[in-house]
Amino acid sequence: MIVTDATTLVDSPLNDSPLVESRLIDGKAFAEGLRGRVANAAAAFSDKAGRKAGLAVVLVGEDPASQVYVRSKGKQTVASGMASFEHKLPADATEAELLAVVEALNADPAVDGILVQLPLPAHIDEQVVIAAINPDKDVDGFHVVNVGRLATGLPGFVPCTPLGCLMLLKDRLGSLSGLDAVVIGRSNIVGKPMAQLLLAESCTVTVAHSRTKDLAEVVRRADIVVAAVGRPEMVKGDWIKPGATVIDVGINRVPAAEEGKTRLVGDVDFASVSQTAGAITPVPGGVGPMTIAVLLRNTMVAAYRNAGLAFDADAL
Ligand code: NAD
Repeated sequence: MIVTDATTLVDSPLNDSPLVESRLIDGKAFAEGLRGRVANAAAAFSDKAGRKAGLAVVLVGEDPASQVYVRSKGKQTVASGMASFEHKLPADATEAELLAVVEALNADPAVDGILVQLPLPAHIDEQVVIAAINPDKDVDGFHVVNVGRLATGLPGFVPCTPLGCLMLLKDRLGSLSGLDAVVIGRSNIVGKPMAQLLLAESCTVTVAHSRTKDLAEVVRRADIVVAAVGRPEMVKGDWIKPGATVIDVGINRVPAAEEGKTRLVGDVDFASVSQTAGAITPVPGGVGPMTIAVLLRNTMVAAYRNAGLAFDADAL
């Protein structure tokens, strides 16, 4: 049976092993807690700064998935007690028009964080747009200044999905120092920043990718496995060292047993890996809910910094 979320797991045959439930890393619950702490920090910020912290999201075009993400980000921003600014441009907007919006947001003191929803239409150069965002408002952590800050250990913004993965890992394992970590995938938004974060926690980090030889053997060494590949259920149970912690970043839609329906699966074969792993994130309900919660956290950090107010981000 395929387990689709934390709730289903409780009634699943996997529960033949009483350990399975305790092995589950519940990202949904953790994200809820994080959003609560962000909301408290946002209320305190409003009192101190005399204004709400603000997040601006810019969407170009009508991509349905992007529209859903942007709506969800806006709703959660408002629910956390922050101001949400949405800027929608038509699919045929020029790069210059988009850059003008970014410039206006850079200059707007009510805006602490700026996020340009990716992907952008093909005629717009994503790198040019990301480079135009003020690095101190770059709450997605994609600007090269923030990439450099992460690589050199300076404070800056870290991409939301890998930071969410790190929070789940530290919550489960405490210190990660000295652990062997294998990150599968080397994208700029997940794999590479994930590797940097684990290195900063003193893990011994291996980054595996599409050209890696004998991936299963590489993964078998790992105490921590982070899968960010985009290939449904690729990582199998016999690749996993018994007791390892497995973080599944993948979100893949595949045909369901019922004709015409689809279901979400990760990059990890949950049914087999959950038998071997010491802890594992489900899909959905694992890493997915963390991304927006961390975006709100990053916006809070930006707001305190931009207002010149002291803030302990580690307390979030
Ligand atoms: P990407 O396509 O940019 O990168 C995929 C990486 O996987 C590449 O570096 C590639 O070298 C590697 N790869 C491909 N085939 C491989 C193979 N057979 N063996 C080993 N490595 C291989 O993808 P991405 O943006 O990093 O996203 C990865 C997955 O994470 C996708 O499923 C995506 O939907 C998901 N994702 C989830 C969230 C979230 O919020 N949970 C956020 C971002 C991405």
